[in-house]
Amino acid sequence: MSNKSIFEMILDGEVNSNIIYENEYVFAINDLNPVAKVHILIIPKKKIESINFIEQEDSKILSQMFLTAKLLAKKYEINNSGYRLIVNTNENAGQTVFHIHMHLIGGEKLKNI
Ligand code: 5GP
Repeated sequence: MSNKSIFEMILDGEVNSNIIYENEYVFAINDLNPVAKVHILIIPKKKIESINFIEQEDSKILSQMFLTAKLLAKKYEINNSGYRLIVNTNENAGQTVFHIHMHLIGGEKLKNI
C-alpha cells in the first residue's frame, strides 16, 4: 500500500492537479475546494506530517514557504488588498492532509478570526 500523501502523488503526476509554481523546495496548487477567490496551497516537496515534526534542518523549506506566499500573492495581485496564511495542525484545527501545507487565501474580504 502506498504511504504517499495526496500531495506527493500530485507532485509525482499520479493525481491530476495543475502545479502553478515550483522550485527546489516547494510547489503550489489551487485548492480543490476553495474558500475564497484565491485559495492556493504551498507545499514542501519533502513530506513533513505537521508543524509538530519540523526540525531545525527544515528552516530553509519553511522560509521558502513564506517567500513563495509573498511571490504568489504578488502574482495573483492580492498583495495589496490582503491575504491570510494558514497552517492547520491536527484535529482541532481541521488538518485533513498530513503533509505540511500553507493555505494562501485572499481575493475578497475575509471574515475576522
Ligand atoms: P487541511 O484541512 O489539511 O489544512 O487542508 C487540506 C486541503 O487540501 C483542503 O483544503 C483540501 O480541499 C485540499 N485538497 C485535498 N485533496 C486535494 C487534491 O487532490 N487536490 C487539490 N488541489 N487540493 C486538495
